[in-house]
Amino acid sequence: MYQKVVCVEDPEEPPGCRQSVSACAFPAQAPALTFRQRHFPTASEQDWNDWRWQLRNRITSLKKLGRIIALSDSERQAMAFNGATLPLAVTPYYASLISPDNPGQPIRRTMVPTVSELLVSQGEEHDPLGEDGHSPVPGLVHRYPDRVLFLATDYCSSYCRYCTRSRMVGKRKGHSLARWQKAIAYIAANPAIRDVLLSGGDPLTMAEEQIEWLLSRLRRIPHVEMIRIGTKAPIVLPQRITPELTAMLRKYHPLWMSIHCTHPDELTPEAARACTMLADAGIPLGSQTVLLAGINDSVETMRKLMHGLVKIRVKPYYLYQCDPIMGSAHFRTPVSKGLEIYQGLRGHTTGYAVPNYVIDAPGGGGKIPLIPETVVGRDGNDLLIRNYEGNVYRYPDVIGAASHNS
Ligand code: SF4
Repeated sequence: MYQKVVCVEDPEEPPGCRQSVSACAFPAQAPALTFRQRHFPTASEQDWNDWRWQLRNRITSLKKLGRIIALSDSERQAMAFNGATLPLAVTPYYASLISPDNPGQPIRRTMVPTVSELLVSQGEEHDPLGEDGHSPVPGLVHRYPDRVLFLATDYCSSYCRYCTRSRMVGKRKGHSLARWQKAIAYIAANPAIRDVLLSGGDPLTMAEEQIEWLLSRLRRIPHVEMIRIGTKAPIVLPQRITPELTAMLRKYHPLWMSIHCTHPDELTPEAARACTMLADAGIPLGSQTVLLAGINDSVETMRKLMHGLVKIRVKPYYLYQCDPIMGSAHFRTPVSKGLEIYQGLRGHTTGYAVPNYVIDAPGGGGKIPLIPETVVGRDGNDLLIRNYEGNVYRYPDVIGAASHNS
């Protein structure tokens, strides 16, 4: 039977959102406190610290947004089309980080639509990564032999304007137990799959019981060695990381987490605390960052972000060239900019703070690493290699030597 697992009050709300919960003890930080008192004067500290309150009070309309920020003409015009492409949604917490008067502020640009996203440029597509063509059952993408992407929900607490899956997220379809069961049956029937990435949408917007349902079913499959969760919750909804959630997650190790982050201004005490709680639960944390024009496309900003992540126990994992989704030209940088940033990190800071710079190949070719040329040639047996300062060194290469195992 097709069973929709959605909240009856509002299909955009995650299940269980009306249940009473013990809000985690999250100290209100000064900017968030000022913002709450100004824009949500009847909300208590307990409300603010309750992730379900944050979801119920998301900013989703022109009217609400216009009360919080002074909208530019471009933002106001784009909001007339809100929902035609990707809807607007921002948690009150994340909205507290948005500049009310500067339309160019990085966090504001990632959340508030502008007319630029209505312009479609050459090469842009709804599904540039060809995920739909690699989907053996709905909600599952099987592109690499040993791993699958499990799109558990189309719901996010806040919608990023450059989202690769803008074709499908925020479309109010809710979650389907029947879809989940088909995806799990597919994984169980394919012994080559050893790694499952739970993503969406944002899986951590779901109730604990639902996340646990998925994790427990996946853990019953003997060949699934590793489960990963892709989420932006610690950054846009840090209140979601509760002791109850981490206690549940730690039952399903080895569990890894990829945290989507964009700018150093996101690394607030709240985000730091959320990441610390996850790390303390034994979950290795990696980051995923999209390179975005005018938002994080400088060595200085990216270095600050990567250093900040390492400080809160998140290993910088991927720096993505922005995917050519429809209306993304204003976010995309030349690849040469990404290589310049990579070069500005590699060797200038610890390797732990250097992410892999990749293009997710259009059409479904998978992630292809981009690395500035370091092998500059040969001189006899010597390999000529260039270091981070541009100096060339010789390495006495071993040519034609017998294998140690022979
Ligand atoms: S959190 Fe991820 S899935 Fe959700 S809108 Fe942002 S990029 Fe897309």
